[in-house]
Amino acid sequence: MPGAAFYGKMERVKILAVSDEALDRIYALASSGHFQDVELIVGCGDLPYHYLEYLVTVLNVPMFYVPGNHDPNENPAKKETQAQGGSNLDLKLARHNRFLIGGFGGSVRYRPDGTNQYSQTEAYLRAFRLIPKLLFNRLQYGRALDILITHSPPFGIHDDVDPAHTGLKALNWLIRFAQPRYLLHGHTHLYLKNLAQSETVVNLTKITNVYPYKILDVTH
Ligand SMILES: [Zn+2]
Repeated sequence: MPGAAFYGKMERVKILAVSDEALDRIYALASSGHFQDVELIVGCGDLPYHYLEYLVTVLNVPMFYVPGNHDPNENPAKKETQAQGGSNLDLKLARHNRFLIGGFGGSVRYRPDGTNQYSQTEAYLRAFRLIPKLLFNRLQYGRALDILITHSPPFGIHDDVDPAHTGLKALNWLIRFAQPRYLLHGHTHLYLKNLAQSETVVNLTKITNVYPYKILDVTH
């Protein structure tokens, strides 16, 4: 029974999560060994892929990312549409050690021709495509998901009222259905750091806006 080992002692992983803005100071911090205990890199979208590739090269750990609304559609024939050394987890599930990780890229649609933009209905249809894999995880491991990586925030949580920064309702549904312990997102920028909230707990899920970067100790 492959799932039996998953009920043992607490697992933890140290994550460097980045989103939306390539910071000059990240280069200095990474090259000086500041992130040397980081075990996993998470990209929540809208970043130049060379920034993600730099982090993978320097830290030499696995990287999962999802595309944002300013990123290109992935095309396997075009290298520049992927971050080399990482895995695009958009609508995919993966495992890192004992952590079950899933991804959901893009934002709400605010331009008719925008890439990685979805109406609320389109986003629901995308989320529903994860159902078989989530059910498989639940049967195999006793839970559907530990960490959900998204670009957009859920609706009404860390989002905004303008057309481009309204959260996706499909993510609220996904939180209820899959009950991940963590949802990491970007897309909404915290300009008033002392006022805006970057962490919210909904039932079993801790939702974190990682913009522009966060170090997270994640457990299950
Ligand atoms: Zn965005």
